[in-house]
Amino acid sequence: MNAKKTITSKAPGRINIIGDHTDYNNGFVMPAAIDLHTTFTFTLNESESTCKIESIDMNDIYEFDLKELGKGKSWQKYIDGILFQLQENGYKISGFDAVFSGTVPLGSGLSSSASLEASFLNGLNTLFNLGINPLKMVQMSQLAEHYVGVKCGIMDQFVSFMGKKDHALLLNCATNKYELIPIDLKDYTFLLINSNVSHSLASSEYNTRRETCERSLEKIKKILPVQTLSDLKVSDLETIEKSLNETEYKRVSHVVHENDNVHQTKQAFTEGNLTKVGKLLYKGHKSISQNYEVSCPELDFIIDFCKNEKEILGARMMGGGFGGCALVLIRKTEVDSFIDRISESYSAKFDFQCSPIHIKLGNGATIINQN
Ligand code: ADP
Ligand code: MG
Repeated sequence: MNAKKTITSKAPGRINIIGDHTDYNNGFVMPAAIDLHTTFTFTLNESESTCKIESIDMNDIYEFDLKELGKGKSWQKYIDGILFQLQENGYKISGFDAVFSGTVPLGSGLSSSASLEASFLNGLNTLFNLGINPLKMVQMSQLAEHYVGVKCGIMDQFVSFMGKKDHALLLNCATNKYELIPIDLKDYTFLLINSNVSHSLASSEYNTRRETCERSLEKIKKILPVQTLSDLKVSDLETIEKSLNETEYKRVSHVVHENDNVHQTKQAFTEGNLTKVGKLLYKGHKSISQNYEVSCPELDFIIDFCKNEKEILGARMMGGGFGGCALVLIRKTEVDSFIDRISESYSAKFDFQCSPIHIKLGNGATIINQN
């Protein structure tokens, strides 16, 4: 009898360098995979359909039969979501055991959920020789997240699979075409400051923003030949201003400028001009705070604090909004002293702590061990 087949799979969380609230408007985003991961180790257990998965971080075990999926709670729903996707697409698997844990902080906007999905699905793809191509796995993971109840775009799963060390992806969310952009931060690094705020507003306001964008698009279509808000150029804004109310104009203005910011940021990285990258981060934050209005006082405080630091080139809030992390482009030698300064000022102002998260850019989903 052969030794039981075992494999280890890992997939990363991500940052989004620029391009927020552009994804569901068929626009552009610039995410990058990071060196924080969810890691699964799988073993074939020789049963036809019984499985046992242990979450080390949650100190919890999920035992189920592949013929009776859908009973999972909390993290187990991501497992069900992926397994339903395999079933719906006709992929056959048998019983297995798995253990997993992660280093991506949960619920901080670094997409621990996508890293879980990508690591789990990529691991099963190898364990059972399913031959699913990466783009298909991206889409299956996105649908698994929808099963859990989050109608997310495709960015997080895309970068968790396709990311490459020291590169960002420039992803067109309308076509799923992407380019890898080399990122050389020289003497600088990306540092995350977690505001440790998670507002309950996030999902209701997210839906309102989506509706406002859809309504605005219908109005704009009457005067310009566009299919999506992302077909608009900055120079079109003057033409459409009168056909929208003030709120609609602000939201559309953000989407149009943010798409432009993504392309300009690519250009700045290509030129090795980190000062320009930093300015675009600040510009993106101003727009997301004042025009899209999804920031919060705590994140605005962090960004304003950064503006007074001479070794910081730029910063912006990252993600859906109303909390989560700020992304800061800072000289490496200043990281520790900056953390001291911001921590002290932040807790004096808000009576609770912010926390730093150290990251480097890393690779997408990989199989790290198999025998
Ligand atoms: P984010 O993706 O921004 O980290 P989400 O709320 O989308 O936040 O996903 C977090 C959820 O994903 C957790 O509540 C948990 O259910 C699941 N999850 C992610 N990583 C792990 C892990 N290492 N162990 C168990 N569950 C995890
Ligand atoms: Mg998530």
